[in-house]
Amino acid sequence: VRAGVAPDHQHTKGVTRLFDRISRRRGFTFFLNVEIGRHVTHAELLQHHHAVLYAVGAPDDRRLDIDGMALPGAGTATETVAWINGHPDFAQLPVDLGHERVVVIGNGNVALDVARILTADPDDLARTDISAAALAALRTSAVREVVIAARRGPADSAFTLPELLGLTSTARVVIDDADRELVQRDLAVVDDAVTRAKLEILAKLPDAAGPTGRPRIRLAYLLTPHRVSGTDSVNGIEFRRTGTEQPVHLDAGMVLTSIGYRGKPITGLPFDDDANIVPNDEGRVVDPATGRAVPGVYVAGWIKRGPTGFIGTNKSCAMQTVSHLVDDFNAGLLDDPVARPAALDRLVRSHRPDVVDAVGWQAIDAAEIAGGQVAGRVRVKFTAVSDMVAVAAGAPAPSMARRLLADLRR
Ligand code: NAP
Repeated sequence: VRAGVAPDHQHTKGVTRLFDRISRRRGFTFFLNVEIGRHVTHAELLQHHHAVLYAVGAPDDRRLDIDGMALPGAGTATETVAWINGHPDFAQLPVDLGHERVVVIGNGNVALDVARILTADPDDLARTDISAAALAALRTSAVREVVIAARRGPADSAFTLPELLGLTSTARVVIDDADRELVQRDLAVVDDAVTRAKLEILAKLPDAAGPTGRPRIRLAYLLTPHRVSGTDSVNGIEFRRTGTEQPVHLDAGMVLTSIGYRGKPITGLPFDDDANIVPNDEGRVVDPATGRAVPGVYVAGWIKRGPTGFIGTNKSCAMQTVSHLVDDFNAGLLDDPVARPAALDRLVRSHRPDVVDAVGWQAIDAAEIAGGQVAGRVRVKFTAVSDMVAVAAGAPAPSMARRLLADLRR
């Protein structure tokens, strides 16, 4: 939620209130800033519990294998969203918005998120929890147009209807005449009600000739990426008109792929390298060699199903896994832990002295919100893990809030 949900979607980020409620329950313990396979092994976790349920998501990007992707100015939408959100691993991402056009490859909801932020009014974003570095870059941005380029036609747009509605009501979205003809062509043959609703919105979009002033988002179709061009840095992208060899060139100072996420193996667990998920049967982890469930290990969310669906999809997905876990416990299939919870606490602390517990997290949260109150923002986020660890360990919150504000002014 902190690093993936766009900062102008504060309503969506409100799901953290549910997390807060759950984390205050008796029997719930936080061990934050701890990595499985590095600080604690899967086997150690299982020794201390009846079961371990992994809900680790899909942290990596799918990469596009075309020439030029290594040039400065080429990157991924997901790391750009992480930079916008102040994720510590991406806070220093070199993002240069000194060019008129950005091209985003792929047209899923992540592409819409990044295009919306890059064309938004920085004064509106200033009230959110956007990172100070991203806000400063957006205030001096030269970007006038973000092109969202899809390899297929309008009927196959990957964005969802609510997100398209949200985009067209907040941003200046345009479409070229040639692409509008593709929309009309699809409207003549498509029956599905949701797809038709999306197409009808696309058919009514203005063309790029409308009033200038606001940066615009252009939805473009039938563009298969071929090569990113440039010598020292990106100066454009060459597509092939999908299904033909016809080249289509767009000048651009930045090219971002937004072609989906990818799950990462978890040390000690089987992994399906083709689907990039942990092999499972409705959440019960399965050993691919035997086809049998691995006792006491479960998965939920994107590491179980792959990177599709909303936060709500993950709730029903988790429900399915947990009901199987409870069934297995009731059927006596889960071994009793061999060590007590206090022993786990000692083990984690000995391997990871910087572990952050619930009190530590509450201190971080409170310092960020306090920083936000002073600045008229939702919160001002820490973008360095060392700062978070210092606050969690008891560094006085007011001084950290001042530090955050200084960051914001820089
Ligand atoms: P996505 O919805 O899977 O979209 C991926 C896009 O990349 C598609 O347009 C796909 O085109 C294109 N693509 C894939 N491989 C390509 C290639 N080699 N060359 C060119 N284009 C390629 O992925 P996403 O946008 O990362 O979203 C992931 C999930 O998170 C989705 O379920 C999404 O709804 C959800 N999400 C939701 C929200 C929200 O609700 N606000 C926000 C963000 C994300 P093809 O269709 O032709 O393969």
